[in-house]
Amino acid sequence: MKIQAAVATAPKTPFEFREVDLDDLAPDEVRVRLVATGVCHTDAIVRDQVYPTPLPAVLGHEGAGVIEAVGALVTSVEVGDSVVLSANSCGECEQCFTGRPAYCSNFFGRNFAGTRPDGSTSLASDGTNVSSHFFGQSSFATYANVAARSVVKVDKELSLELLGPLGCGLQTGAGAVINSLDVRAGASIAVFGTGAVGCAALMAAAAVGATTIVAIDLVDSRLATATELGATHVINSRTADVAEEIERITGGRGLDYTLDTTGVPSVLRTAADVLGTGGTVALIGAPAPGTEVSFEVGGSLLKGWRFRTIIEGDSVPQVFIPQLIELWKQGKFPIEKLTKSFAFSEINEAFDASSSGEVIKPILVF
Ligand code: ZN
Repeated sequence: MKIQAAVATAPKTPFEFREVDLDDLAPDEVRVRLVATGVCHTDAIVRDQVYPTPLPAVLGHEGAGVIEAVGALVTSVEVGDSVVLSANSCGECEQCFTGRPAYCSNFFGRNFAGTRPDGSTSLASDGTNVSSHFFGQSSFATYANVAARSVVKVDKELSLELLGPLGCGLQTGAGAVINSLDVRAGASIAVFGTGAVGCAALMAAAAVGATTIVAIDLVDSRLATATELGATHVINSRTADVAEEIERITGGRGLDYTLDTTGVPSVLRTAADVLGTGGTVALIGAPAPGTEVSFEVGGSLLKGWRFRTIIEGDSVPQVFIPQLIELWKQGKFPIEKLTKSFAFSEINEAFDASSSGEVIKPILVF
């Protein structure tokens, strides 16, 4: 069938609207009519070829929509179901079998290769293949043939416009706090960087009852949003010394948890330095392959601190996304404070608003 798609054609180049051909469903796929999709930094860095998904490609990986058809092998959803789309995984490796699909041994192939596992793409333009199945979905399009493991069924009564970003950015930040770090009531945590992922982490920290929640960013307007989301303290790292401020805030004890969403080595180093005894620093940003960070391990030896990396908030999407929707319904995960809607035709404006920092989480509405 003919669909409308925003095609990434070259690095640092605006998306191009094209009519493209969508092929027949594979037996383990569903056809989704997209209602809305989030714009994520990962789409920009793949368009810019930091990760090697072949171009031309249809990107987009925070889709939400309605099932229009189901493949012969799919039993988890039916036509008419509302779904949020998330990362794909193979379901057959050791990590998938032990409930860790974010660490799937085939994660790159299932999410970034631009093809199905058999090497085919579902999209073509003027007889030329276009990469598809980005995060199992390629949701910058009016319709998509989506891997069944990317699909999370949600209540049909819900408006889908706000929910797409749960599939990637928001589950990443919230999952790091709730699933990975298991932050408890009364704990202290700092979040470095208050983009969509950092804001989700702040909301989750407030929801679980952390009582010292520090937000660090370079932009005052973002720190104001962070306060609305539950940050108890904010630090502008352009004008204040982060380590000194945290020492003051914690009365010299240091923090239980620090979360770096920036992937900038100097920021990660600071996030480690401000930990208290037994603390954990976690990286959920995405530095370029080859990036190195140095940590102080002599004076800090006695702290027994830990460093870990986290993918997709250690989320099992079909379990965690419905939990976040319940928190949202109770007002404890106010997604709408982060989002601004754009028409699908305004995709390039939405990317500009994201990269300038003007909008934390743009959502394209079909
Ligand atoms: Zn797997």
